Amino acid sequence: MLHCNTGGHVTNRTLIQFFHWYTPADGSLWSQARREAQRLADMGVTDVWLPPACKGASGGHSVGYDAYDLFDLGEFDQKGSVATKYGTRDELIAAAKALADCGVGTIVDVVFNHKMGADEREQVTVRRANADDRTEIEDHAFEAHAWTKFTFPARAGQYSRFIWDAQCFGGVDHVEDPDAEGVFKIENEHDLGTWSEEVDDELGNFDYLMGADIEFRNPAVQEELKYWGRWIAEQLPVAGFRLDAAKHIPAWFFRDWVGHMRDAVKNDALVVAEYWHPDEDVLKSYLEKVDHQLMLFDVALQHSFHHASRSDSNFDLRTIFDGTLVAAMPDHAVTIVGNHDTQPLQALETPVEPWFKPIAYALILLREQGLPCIFHADLYGADYRDTGDDGNEHDVNLPAIGCLPALVEARKRFAHGPQTDLMDEDPGCIGLVRHGTAEQPGCVVVISNGGDNGKSVVLGPDLGSRTFRDWLMHRDDMVKTDEAGCAHFPVNGGSVSIWVLAD
Ligand code: CA
Repeated sequence: MLHCNTGGHVTNRTLIQFFHWYTPADGSLWSQARREAQRLADMGVTDVWLPPACKGASGGHSVGYDAYDLFDLGEFDQKGSVATKYGTRDELIAAAKALADCGVGTIVDVVFNHKMGADEREQVTVRRANADDRTEIEDHAFEAHAWTKFTFPARAGQYSRFIWDAQCFGGVDHVEDPDAEGVFKIENEHDLGTWSEEVDDELGNFDYLMGADIEFRNPAVQEELKYWGRWIAEQLPVAGFRLDAAKHIPAWFFRDWVGHMRDAVKNDALVVAEYWHPDEDVLKSYLEKVDHQLMLFDVALQHSFHHASRSDSNFDLRTIFDGTLVAAMPDHAVTIVGNHDTQPLQALETPVEPWFKPIAYALILLREQGLPCIFHADLYGADYRDTGDDGNEHDVNLPAIGCLPALVEARKRFAHGPQTDLMDEDPGCIGLVRHGTAEQPGCVVVISNGGDNGKSVVLGPDLGSRTFRDWLMHRDDMVKTDEAGCAHFPVNGGSVSIWVLAD
């Protein structure tokens, strides 16, 4: 899954998350993806994860995670607009086709945990759950109204006639007549009075996250979501899926759904689930439950990058992979430096400081282990304003990481062959060697989080008396190996150099 092998030539797979939380709501993102397709392909990006394409409850301003209608890709006048925040259905399809024409896959964002923005209220029977321990559900049941009926009047049954009602949902956070807020278990025909099993055990049972929580134990819901997966793959070329909020969805459902997608849509689909948990044992347990059919974002590694970037030279770089998913299960780890949830002012804010980003990207892009995913805001930069935890408005300016295109291209050109880690007694300077293959060259990567430093490396006589240059041009000197292929490869303080053959 990490590589495509054709003859002796290996193509390293590289993802981009092609949006961030504050992507402007100007309907231009699908067009940007179409325009950028060739540049991304040339750089070495093989797959583009697009944001949720379906209409959200907040219409043209929705990031997409407040899913309203899975079948409205910016085609129907619903929730105040025809287009989504990112453009129209036609622009989405044009982008996916342009990417496919350049050999780049489209990864579709799948938002299944909940729905928001119901069209009608219904009478339901609910019981209040303890918000801090969801397994404590009160015995007292009461009648109330809840926003659980989704009829999609403007779509009028096109593509799907399925009407969602209270039998399709297991919980809500708001009821009316009597009005109340909290976490409420809806009684339906499928739930046995309980939340779903095989979800994360934070808060006792983390089935409920937000909105109207989908009841996966309803067989009609299962069939509708399988149908949607087949349908979306008929609308546009789909290389894979990114599964939102997996810790709130029973593992057995995705084991079944992903298996169905592999049978019915694409056997080698790239599937990555968002299971936001730093503990590798929790992630390993989840992967077992889904029969290892998918990959997970490496949360622990992203946290490690965050801490290292805030510790300057006090962080022992040799420990940077300790406790990470990519160290434990490299074939199931999608490695990231940041995403739409970790960026400043977002709920899971754990940003990596700009000085460390080239280092972090080198560590995910040049190594053999893990499937790296770069972030739109790091490639293009981001400017936005929002309210922080302190209640004040903040302006955020995230600069584009100038060397990121070169880092991605280095993965394509030089991240080949066996790997030797360079981790000796120096906690402030690590590196790695990719030894290359008969067809494709390797490189020497050296990283420092302290002062100017370097690594002495023996590359062997085949690389004796050769000249190396820094691909990133952070150093303008040359390194020459002796006859045995030995040399000292330098790096500037707080920086990374990628040494490649100069000729
Ligand atoms: Ca749920």
